[in-house]
Amino acid sequence: MAFERQPSCQDLSESSALMPVAQARELLRQRLNVIEETEVLALDQCLGRVLASDLSSPMDVPGHTNAAMDGFAIRAADLPEVGKTEVLEVVGESWAGRPWTGALKSGQAIKIATGAVMPRGSDTVVIVEHTQLKGEQVTLGDDTQPGRNVRHAGEDLRQGEAVLAGGTLLMPAEIGQLASLGFAQAEVRKRLKVAVFSTGDELVPLAQSSETALLPGQVFDSNRYTLCAMLQRLGVEVVDLGVIGDSAQATRDVFELAARSADVVVSSGGASVSDADHVSRTLGELGEVAFWRLAMRPGRPLACGNVGGALFFGLPGNPVAVMVTFYQFVLPALQHMMGRLVQEPLTFKARCEQPLRKSLGRVEYQRGIVSVGDDGQTTVTTTGKQGAGRISSMTRANCFIVLPEELASVKAGDLVDVQPFEGLI
Ligand code: AMP
Ligand code: MG
Repeated sequence: MAFERQPSCQDLSESSALMPVAQARELLRQRLNVIEETEVLALDQCLGRVLASDLSSPMDVPGHTNAAMDGFAIRAADLPEVGKTEVLEVVGESWAGRPWTGALKSGQAIKIATGAVMPRGSDTVVIVEHTQLKGEQVTLGDDTQPGRNVRHAGEDLRQGEAVLAGGTLLMPAEIGQLASLGFAQAEVRKRLKVAVFSTGDELVPLAQSSETALLPGQVFDSNRYTLCAMLQRLGVEVVDLGVIGDSAQATRDVFELAARSADVVVSSGGASVSDADHVSRTLGELGEVAFWRLAMRPGRPLACGNVGGALFFGLPGNPVAVMVTFYQFVLPALQHMMGRLVQEPLTFKARCEQPLRKSLGRVEYQRGIVSVGDDGQTTVTTTGKQGAGRISSMTRANCFIVLPEELASVKAGDLVDVQPFEGLI
C-alpha cells in the first residue's frame, strides 16, 4: 500500500497543503451573521454592550452659553485698552444652576462661576485672577481678549447631530456621553451565547480543594479557564460544558448539546489527526467544515465551520495555541456577531532586538515584550522558547510578534509587526 504523508507543522515543503491565514479569514467572514435581537437596558447596565442603532443628540450641548472659568461676566466693549484698567459695577451673581436673570448693561459686571449661564448682554468672562474686587466695584486688568472663557450653546453638539453610531461599544466615555444627553436607557444588542468545552482523556478538572495530585500523563484543564476569562472580558454569555473524554460518542453528544445551547461553540483539543482526535471528524459528520488546517503557528489544527445553527471553532489543545487562535480568529468573529463596528487590531512596527527563527510559508505569532527605549525607539524582545505548550510565554509577553508567511527569518535590528495585548488579552 502506498504511504501517503500528511502535511505537518514540521513539514515546510508541503506547507502549501495548509490553508493560508488570509483565505481562512475570508471563509470565516462569509459565515458570520450579526445577532438580530436587541434589548433596552438601564444606562448603568450598559457597560461593555453594543449600541443597537445610530443615536443623535436630542438637544444642544451645552444647552446654554455658560462661563468656562470663575470670574466676571462683562461686555467685551467694556474691556480696558492695553496698558489700562477699567472699573465696573458688580450688579449681581450667576451660579451654576442659579442664573442671574437680568440684562447686563454697559459699565456693569456679574460675578460668575464656572458652568453658570452667561447673563443676557454679556459675551466675555474676565477670570477672577485678572481682577480686583472692592465692595461693589471690580477693577479689570488688560489681559483678556473679547469673547474669552465662554462655552457657547451647541459648541460640543447640535440638536439632531449624530452622536454615537450603531455598533459602538459602550465604554465609560460613551456611557457618560449618553448620560449627558439625558438618556436613562439604551437599546443594545442581546448578548451572544458562547458554549465552551475541553476535550482530552488526560484532563483533570480543577477540584474545589487544592489537594488534587496528578497521575502520570494527566494535566489540569487550564484551557477552559483561559477561554472563559477571555469570553467574560468580551461580555458574552458563557455556557460552560466542562471536560469531554476522547470518545467519538461523547464528542457527538457534546456537539449536539452545544449547538442547541449557544450561537457559537468553542472547544479546545482533539482538533488534529490522531485516533484520539474527534473534533474535526465530528464537525464534518454533524455539520460543515469551512477549514481545519492552517498555515500558521501556533494554531495549525484549527477547525472551523457550522454545527446546527451555531458557528463552531475547534481550537488546538496547546494552551498558547488556544490564545493565539482565539485572538486571531474567534475574537474578531465574535465582535462582528455582537454587532460591533469592525475594528482591526492595533498593529505597529518595532525593532526586533534578537534574531528570530521563523519558517517560510506560514504566519507565526511569536510572543514578545514591546517597550520604548531611552532613545525613544519602539523595540521588541522575544520571550524566548516559543513552544505552544508554554503558557508562561503568554504571561511574560505583552504583544504578539506577527511574522508573515513570506518571511524566512528575522535578523537583529529588523522591523517587525507587533500587536499589543492591551485591549485584547
Ligand atoms: P491536542 O490538541 O488534544 O492534541 O492537545 C495538545 C496538547 O495540549 C496536549 O499536550 C494536551 O495535553 C494539551 N491540552 C489539551 N487540552 C488542554 C486543556 N484543556 N488544558 C491544558 N492543556 C490541554
Ligand atoms: Mg487531545
